[in-house]
Amino acid sequence: MLRQLRARDPRGLGLTARSRRTAELGGGGETADVGFFTDSSICIGCKACEVACRQWNMVPDHPRFLANSYDNSGSLDADTWRHVAFVEQQTAHGFRWLMSSDVCKHCREAACLEVCPTGALFRSEFGTVVLQADVCNGCGYCVPACPFGVISRREGDGRAFKCTLCYDRLGQDMLPACAKACPTGSIGFGPAAEMERRARDRLERLRAEGVAGARLYGTADAGGEGVGGAASIFLLLDRPEIYGLPSEPETPARGLAEGWGAAAMAAGALVLGVVAAVVGGRR
Ligand code: SF4
Ligand code: SF4
Repeated sequence: MLRQLRARDPRGLGLTARSRRTAELGGGGETADVGFFTDSSICIGCKACEVACRQWNMVPDHPRFLANSYDNSGSLDADTWRHVAFVEQQTAHGFRWLMSSDVCKHCREAACLEVCPTGALFRSEFGTVVLQADVCNGCGYCVPACPFGVISRREGDGRAFKCTLCYDRLGQDMLPACAKACPTGSIGFGPAAEMERRARDRLERLRAEGVAGARLYGTADAGGEGVGGAASIFLLLDRPEIYGLPSEPETPARGLAEGWGAAAMAAGALVLGVVAAVVGGRR
């Protein structure tokens, strides 16, 4: 990481003035990469994050009656960049709500960005994955590439949209709108390393208090292995699938090496077969 930072700015800390200021928002400042720590154990399901995101980013609103929960947005898509899942769960002791605010994971190995042919998706100086709608040609390659089902094309528009991690606000030293609006502190934002430290401390504390189902999601060793880790990490109270999150997300590029290996072996076998047939035919 330090090498990477020095390559960006060989004179010193490796941070641009803007990203240094932003990294310091969270009190750390040792890295330009920022991220979220969403602690679902203190989410109250108010959906203030969804509304704040919609307002700031002028995302069109289509309230839905889903008839299966109090949720009225359903999932992340081009018109919902933050989504609070409402999970109603029967337990041995009765009934409980599980709530968690989901968002783009800003993967370290981002499949959406790898397949984008126009450069509409790019890695920002904050380590986040940003989509510039005015450069998107609506090809839709990024949609099936995302292992989390985060990104989609807007109906009636055709272009893809997703969370930008408030790129414009970060540039003005402002907190992301969703984190700013969260009344309980469930959505934490700051330097990525600091967010991970905070998540691990919180997990340790919950486990010590006997919350057996608590676990992290999105770190390089818990749910984020297949995408090189994520800038959006979560503390969940149950398995990821319960919240509608994939348990083993993987960027499709990781399967390519295996695929090319199998193709090379098949080609080798074919060549050997042809050679054997020619030699056998001459005898
Ligand atoms: S979660 Fe999906 S849309 Fe977000 S950075 Fe990762 S691959 Fe891209
Ligand atoms: S960071 Fe900004 S764009 Fe992303 S979910 Fe939060 S408010 Fe929306």
